[in-house]
Amino acid sequence: MYLGGTLISSVEFHGNMSLVLFMSRCPLACRYCHNVELIEDNTEKSFDEVKSEIDNACDFIDAVVVSGGEPLMQLDALIEIFEYVKSINLKTKLDTSGIYPDKIEKLLELELLDFVSLDVKAPFDKYGHITGANIGPQVKKSMQLLNNDSNVNLELRTTYVPTLHTKEDIYNIVNNAEGDIYTIQQFRNKNVLDLKLEKVEVPNPLELREIAEFIKPYFNGVVKLKTAEFGEEII
Ligand code: SF4
Repeated sequence: MYLGGTLISSVEFHGNMSLVLFMSRCPLACRYCHNVELIEDNTEKSFDEVKSEIDNACDFIDAVVVSGGEPLMQLDALIEIFEYVKSINLKTKLDTSGIYPDKIEKLLELELLDFVSLDVKAPFDKYGHITGANIGPQVKKSMQLLNNDSNVNLELRTTYVPTLHTKEDIYNIVNNAEGDIYTIQQFRNKNVLDLKLEKVEVPNPLELREIAEFIKPYFNGVVKLKTAEFGEEII
């Protein structure tokens, strides 16, 4: 499998210590993506090597998070990892763009998902401008499938990029979103795919908090804000 890196984290899966695996490869080209090096990384690892990393960490972690890139591009490897994680009674978390609802359906059938962070990168009808592909309908379907499974905790996430998003966009997203948590993430302007965005100022946390407070009444779940200055806050 193509795996660009690993780390131990206390913040990737709320309340849990986790081993995070970053799978490379992604079919999208989000203008604000700062994972370009990871996406193009050609490092390959065998399942046995990944299993050893999990075994070495298993005494002090509660979960394994698979992030990317887009992990669902390597579905067979992902299934092999999550089946092993479940077999040793750890929890699983998947980070995904939601581009492959059929693959999410497969993971749900196999009961391999405990927590999913699904990016909702734009209002469903404005995806092309931000990700380079009009995948709004696929993301919506992924969200619905995940909501239909009461065993899965679902976080929806939007990275707020001034010049690409407006407060109205966030309102529009939330009005069409269903999940347990909705998180607004602060855009970072370093190493971004669209070099023009390096000149865009990082949004002020106070401005983001104002947006989060504005949309909170319209979301039936927990609203969170994630910034470099204040970390993760519940609104
Ligand atoms: S930000 Fe977009 S392009 Fe970058 S890894 Fe995530 S889904 Fe892929």
